[in-house]
Parts: sequence; C-alpha cells; structure tokens
Amino acid sequence: MIPLDEAQAHVFDRCPVPVATTVALDGALGLVLAEAVVATEAVPPFANTAMDGFALRSADTIGAPVRLAVVGTLAAGAVFEQVVGRGEAVRIMTGAPMPSGADAVVMVERTSVSGPVDAEQVEVKVEVPVGNHVRNAGEDLEPGQVVFPAGTTIGPGQVGVLASINLAEVPVFRRPRVGVISTGDELVADGGTLAPGQIRDSNRPGLLALVQESGFEGVDLGLVPDDEEAIEVALRAGVEACDALLTTGGVSMGDFDYVKVVLDRIGDMRWMQVAIRPAKPLAFGTVDGVPVFGLPGNPVSSMVSFELFARPALRAMAGHTATERPLVRAVADGAMTRRVDGKTHFARVVVDYRDGAYHVSSAGGQGSHQLTAMAGADGLAVLPDGDGVADGAEVEVLILR
Ligand code: AMP
Ligand code: MG
Repeated sequence: MIPLDEAQAHVFDRCPVPVATTVALDGALGLVLAEAVVATEAVPPFANTAMDGFALRSADTIGAPVRLAVVGTLAAGAVFEQVVGRGEAVRIMTGAPMPSGADAVVMVERTSVSGPVDAEQVEVKVEVPVGNHVRNAGEDLEPGQVVFPAGTTIGPGQVGVLASINLAEVPVFRRPRVGVISTGDELVADGGTLAPGQIRDSNRPGLLALVQESGFEGVDLGLVPDDEEAIEVALRAGVEACDALLTTGGVSMGDFDYVKVVLDRIGDMRWMQVAIRPAKPLAFGTVDGVPVFGLPGNPVSSMVSFELFARPALRAMAGHTATERPLVRAVADGAMTRRVDGKTHFARVVVDYRDGAYHVSSAGGQGSHQLTAMAGADGLAVLPDGDGVADGAEVEVLILR
C-alpha cells in the first residue's frame, strides 16, 4: 500500500495543465479567468441619481424650506435637454442621468408639490449638499482599471460585472469534458427486471452527477461488459472525445477485472493500492495524454475516490488554484470505532455547526456498498490508523457540502 498523499501527488503530477480559450458570457459560470480583465468602459457610464426626487442646484436650498419651479420630468433612460437654472428643479427617477446645471438630488420624501400641472412648484424642506444622492460616472469601475485578475473564479457577481463592462467573450480556462464509463457484466441500465445476479448501474449516474456538480462537463460513455476488446474500444473512443475519463469497476483483484489489463496495455498507467478505506484500489494512467481514472466499483468507493483524486486533479485542469475541499476540525458526537489496518478511514458523517464548533455523527451504514450513507453525508471524517475516535474527541473532517 502507498500513502494517500503519494498517490495524489502521482495523479496530480500527470494531469495536463489548463488550456486557455474564450467562451460566451452566458457559459462562463464556474470557469476560471485565464487572463486579467480590464474595463474599457466606466461603470456607471454617466452621473445619475440614486433616488427618486428632484434634481436641483444645492445653492438654491440654502435657508430651506424653499420653493423651486418644476421645469421637467426625467425618467431612467431619458435625457434632459435643457440646463437647470437658478430656482429650478427637475423631477427625476432613480437611474436617470443628472441634468446639466443640477448638482444634487433631494429625495421625494423631503419635498411636497403644489400648483397647476404646467406651473408646478416643489417645496424642498431641507438643505441639500452638493453631490447629494448623485452616483458619479466610474464610481464602480474606471476605464483601464483591472476588474478581475487572472485566476478569478467566475461566480454570479463576476457574470454581472462582466456584463456591465460589455465583455461578451470571456478569456477562461476550458471546462474539462469528463467521460464516464461503467464496467461489469452484472450491471444493467435499461430499467428492466433484474435477472439473478444482476444489479443496477448506479455509479455512472452518480459520477456524472459529481462531475456536473463540480463544474465540469459530463459525457456519458455508457456501460461496458467485462470484455477486454469492448473496454479498449470504449476507452479509445473516450480519450478522443474527452479531456479526462473516469471508469468504475474492474480494478480490484478479481479474475475479470479487465480495465487494469487494458490500461496497462494501451496507456502509461500505474495500479495503486492506496492506504485508505474505502477506495483502496486505483488505476491511474494516461492514454494519448488523456488522464484516465480507474475508480473502484463499489459505489461508495467510486465516489470517495472521485473526491480524493479526480475532483482536485480536474479542478487543477480547469485552472483553479484552490483544488481541495475544506478540512475542518470537529467534535465527534458518538464514538467512531475502527480497527488497526494501516489505512486512513474516511467515515461518512453528518456535519452540523453549533455552539461555535463543527460536530459530526455517522451518516449511516459504513459499508462501501451502502450508498445511502454517502448520499446523506455532508463530510468525510478522517480517522487515522488506530482504534478510532472517542465520543467527544476531536476529528478532522473534509467538508463535501
Ligand atoms: P469491481 O471493482 O468491478 O470488482 O466491483 C466491485 C463491486 O462494485 C461489485 O460488487 C460490483 O457489482 C459493484 N459495482 C461495480 N460497478 C458498479 C456500478 N456501476 N454500479 C453499482 N455497483 C457496481
Ligand atoms: Mg467488476
């Protein structure tokens, strides 16, 4: 067996570097900027009002209350063609450009209007300082300013900012296309009745969901029988179409575990026994430079293996510098026993935060075939080799969600 960090280093060292490209803004969410973005426009593009009210000359409000003549109405999107003169005010709506001559806005709540429609007067009840409720051009971004440095992950806020500076094509690192293949003669995926000895393929949908949740593009490469030739055909087609492949099954010590055999022959691969439980076996290699993760078949193992090896490696390929899930200290609610076996155990746990600390408790049956506990887990508690963690003791936990 080899230590987890050695296996991880082996994998990460052999994954390709991120590839720069451009995408339309509406496809950029979750991707990483490959270059700094520089503003070419000011945001806001012009001085405008932050309030519904009246645009006026500050000097006219000295000694308020004062009465001003209402000389126009200005909606957002409209432009006032005249100059606001002494003793005048323009009714103005939030977002409308400041009319020339005016240097301040009084909010409508500080005014009252009287007189006929064509000769309205506004009573301004307070003195209004210069610049009051005015949002100046470039207050958010000035042209030439670096908006986001290279390496920034594009979240919803970044999407909005990039739209505000009219960046339609975004320089990013490519979103990895990740193919998923299930292998096993016992598997069915057609929704029919199970014949004796058959089980349903749960790994492929589960892994595709992990791929998607992690922000990569999943490619369903189907279910392949335990047959050397079929596995080779599927792998070769997969490396043509994808940036990385995930296979499940066929990497343990069984007689019909052909994934390892095929990868050995067509790829530059290494078969690892990692000192962890679950997910001890891992076949990792490259075929034509494309990384192939031969994940174990047991459903929990395939997901844990994805978390520990594939997800961080794929995040690095996507240009992320933060590739790992957060690791926090928690209090064990209930003992988590285990036996000495030379491995680090990853227990599926429910995590909650109370009284200023994370607490963890078992999410259910811990067998590597018991996927419901994985489904219910918010984290993986890291149990170092030994006899476990006592009730109330401290334990490290990898936060999954
Ligand atoms: P293997 O790694 O092929 O020896 O498979 C280990 C265990 O995982 C066996 O019990 C398999 O039936 C099960 N298994 C393998 N692939 C899948 C899959 N795609 N969905 C559900 N269970 C699977
Ligand atoms: Mg199998």
